[in-house]
Amino acid sequence: MRITAVIPQRVSIPLHEPFVISLGAIDAVDTVLVRIETDEGLVGIGEGSAVGFVTGETTDTVLGAIDQFTPMLLGLNPYAIEHIHHQMDRILVRNGSAKAAIDIACYDLMAQAAGLPLYQFLGGTSGEVRIDQTIGLGPPDVMARQAASIVAAGYTEIKIKAGSDEELDRKAIGLISAAAPGARLKVDANQGWTVPTAMSMLGIYAVYGVSLVEQPLPHWDIEGMAYLRSHSPIPIMADESCFTEHDASVIVRRNAADLINIKLMKCGGIYRGLQINTIAEAAGIECMVGCMLESRVAIAAGAHLVASRANIRHADLDSFTDFDDSSVVSSAFGFVPPVIYLSDEPGIGVKLKV
Ligand code: MG
Repeated sequence: MRITAVIPQRVSIPLHEPFVISLGAIDAVDTVLVRIETDEGLVGIGEGSAVGFVTGETTDTVLGAIDQFTPMLLGLNPYAIEHIHHQMDRILVRNGSAKAAIDIACYDLMAQAAGLPLYQFLGGTSGEVRIDQTIGLGPPDVMARQAASIVAAGYTEIKIKAGSDEELDRKAIGLISAAAPGARLKVDANQGWTVPTAMSMLGIYAVYGVSLVEQPLPHWDIEGMAYLRSHSPIPIMADESCFTEHDASVIVRRNAADLINIKLMKCGGIYRGLQINTIAEAAGIECMVGCMLESRVAIAAGAHLVASRANIRHADLDSFTDFDDSSVVSSAFGFVPPVIYLSDEPGIGVKLKV
């Protein structure tokens, strides 16, 4: 099987509501879908979704990076995934979302050629993935009403955005905890705190039984994370501090996190995500697969990754519930909150309309 064409396409999907976190606000999702065609007639589908304030990429840079990769990809077998990643890394450092688009399409092709859904191709046995639902920053009473409706919709786990105003965070956790009794609560500070602020907030969250706190400190403060990890009553998860397998290795060596949030758009796709998980698993660290603003194309790929590895015990793959991507994606997976039911079609199981 040889790659004969790489065809990227920009699409725009409006959000139901603007989504606000401590780093910024977003009201529509621009993303890049890519088709990789082969000489055997199989077509792989991938996605690169740029979130500039996290990865430094834009939709234009994703399109430009894919153009840079294309001459190298033509004629290669998609099974040569290590070689493809090494070559992409030689052409451009970072650019994880653009690399993820190529990587996902290659894994889609490999699993299609093997006649297996991707999670089975990667070694998994069950295509059911339980996800959480995220509450963006807002007035605490509004956040609490959202928590109640999330639980009513069937979710058992809620991720609460925090980190822009400690007073609002304190009010929000009190109201949310009362509005959603029994739900497992996680908090994501998106780099919003200093070490002293984090220590005080972690103490408050512990009172409410919060199960983990994600990225309390700026991404570069690995020493601070290590300090928090050794003093915190709540497990600490690295997100923006862990883009690549190299970051995972540093986090492990410095004891800087209890958990790692793998995102395909940060690390460059499934190949790197598997490497991060292996490093973490060897160190006794569980992983989550998270998302940013991906459509069901990359969400399907992320869910296949979750379903392929026992050490990936958490799935924060809820972006697709914030918008309606049915104008571009005709089918991807079944979903009855809180469970994604992966397709048993070969590959990632996604069909596009565009
Ligand atoms: Mg996060």
